[in-house]
Amino acid sequence: MRNHLFLGIAVTLAAAVGPATAERPAPVPPPGPRPAPPPTPGLVPLPAPLPPVEPAPGAAPGAAAALPGAAITDDGLGRSGTIFGFDAANLVTFTFDDGPHEPTTTKVLAALAAHDVPATFFVVGKRLAGRSSERRRQLLVEIDRAGHAIGNHSWSHPALPALSEKAREREIDATQQIVEEILGRPPTTLRPPFGATSPKVAALLARRGLTEVIWSIDTKDYLTPDAARLRKAVVARIAARGGGIVLFHDTKKATATALPGILADLEALNCARLGRGEEPILPVSLHYFVRDGAAPRPVPPEVAARTARYRAALVERCTQRGPAPGEDGR
Ligand SMILES: [Zn+2]
Repeated sequence: MRNHLFLGIAVTLAAAVGPATAERPAPVPPPGPRPAPPPTPGLVPLPAPLPPVEPAPGAAPGAAAALPGAAITDDGLGRSGTIFGFDAANLVTFTFDDGPHEPTTTKVLAALAAHDVPATFFVVGKRLAGRSSERRRQLLVEIDRAGHAIGNHSWSHPALPALSEKAREREIDATQQIVEEILGRPPTTLRPPFGATSPKVAALLARRGLTEVIWSIDTKDYLTPDAARLRKAVVARIAARGGGIVLFHDTKKATATALPGILADLEALNCARLGRGEEPILPVSLHYFVRDGAAPRPVPPEVAARTARYRAALVERCTQRGPAPGEDGR
């Protein structure tokens, strides 16, 4: 529901950072003040100080850092300049904003696991606070254990350029703090709500060591309840662009419903490409899109190993699948 409330702001801001019909935000956003968003009823105000965090059931306070599982650190993601993903070279990374949220986040995690695809979840801090947040806090742990990256999506989803510097800091720092309390380490990336950024936002993120992550493919999944249509459109965009940073929302039912098909269609597309002697468009971790200036940053070995594992499994699955006449995955 909140997305509907924000839709008007999102459209306004999309117009401010780039053409509403194109997914490329302006690489260098215009400086200067932006119109303040209209007051949004029902938002949980920023806590000052942060409310006490309730430990997950059965967990001792501070024990989250030692949780076993498949979690990888997100070393190598922070302290970069803004990344957009337009320079994708047959690589695609999936990002999910606004969660965690039930039941959609659980469905998204299941689809990613079924295809062994890594992703990044940009979480809204206030969803992890308060008495009703236990399940969402557990979801955060599940996301982490599954080897996905977790990024900061602010505390209450405001347009960061419109805030005072102090309010901006609180929006960012409160989410850093609550994620660290749950997982034992803070995020190293941030996606500004609505993709709305400014030189001041970028400067603050640089001071915090956070990499600003925008996107190159906006699925506009918040606009459609039609999962079949979303599935077709997203795969076509990935194919046309040769990959990129894909923006989804794991709060959306259509996204959770469409994702298994999107990942299946991506596999079919890649089998067709392999069959033609072309490179597949590999679904990878966000690490592959991090840049230091114009230079790609080296990918951590465990991340590269995961990609290699996916590629080997893809070749195997395509062999089993056999030729599919007329199937090009589009
Ligand atoms: Zn958002």
